[in-house]
Amino acid sequence: MRRPEPKSCIFEHIYFALPNSVVFGRSVYESRRAFGEILAMEAPVECDVVIAVPDSGVVAAIGYAAKAGVPFQQGLIRSHYVGRTFIEPSQKIRDFGVKLKLSPVRAVLEGKRVVVVDDSIVRGTTSSKIVRLLKEAGASEVHMRIASPPIIGSCYYGVDTPSAEELISYKMKVEEVRQFIGSDSLAFLPLGSLQNMLGADSPNFCYACFSGQYPIMPGSKVKRVGDFVDDGVTGDVDGGWVQTAAPVKA
Ligand code: SF4
Repeated sequence: MRRPEPKSCIFEHIYFALPNSVVFGRSVYESRRAFGEILAMEAPVECDVVIAVPDSGVVAAIGYAAKAGVPFQQGLIRSHYVGRTFIEPSQKIRDFGVKLKLSPVRAVLEGKRVVVVDDSIVRGTTSSKIVRLLKEAGASEVHMRIASPPIIGSCYYGVDTPSAEELISYKMKVEEVRQFIGSDSLAFLPLGSLQNMLGADSPNFCYACFSGQYPIMPGSKVKRVGDFVDDGVTGDVDGGWVQTAAPVKA
């Protein structure tokens, strides 16, 4: 049997790792900045200010603003006093796509055409709240730019993404997602552009949640990260979430 080649999770560069990290031999900061620059070139829009969904959207927003020649401002503040004050890496994986409470800065947003950069859209509910928040704070237009391709598949390798049926981009086309979240425009980082940017390293990464092309097909059932409960008697996972991988095609 041919031994499968290990792949690196591209989500480390999109979301999980801190920007000061070097992961799989690449600077996370440089990756995120490049994602923002690509979005500015491939999905430009007339705007007055570029803001980020903190914290993981910040570096991509800086890249977008620099390339677009538009000021980057702090238009959303992550509250440090509501909810958890610190998310451990394991918790961050569990809470994939869940953001801490955000507060808008009216002085930055009022009467402005705003580009808001986020790392990804998972279920779409957070994005729709953010768009509403920005409009209520006076933004005249809200243009959402996402520094990753649409997530269309669940992860079978340890990142606890929701099932495909819960992922908004599995269910809807980009224009339908835009209507759902209520933004004036919406653009994702194209997968091909992401792979071009990674250059010779590109084949070393896993993109399965964007492409549906899984490097290793899961068995009929996979267990939830953090569950780790297989009593070895029934050959099944106890007390946890299991998922049939039937819809996934190689
Ligand atoms: S499916 Fe997505 S989250 Fe899972 S390892 Fe691959 S790139 Fe990472």
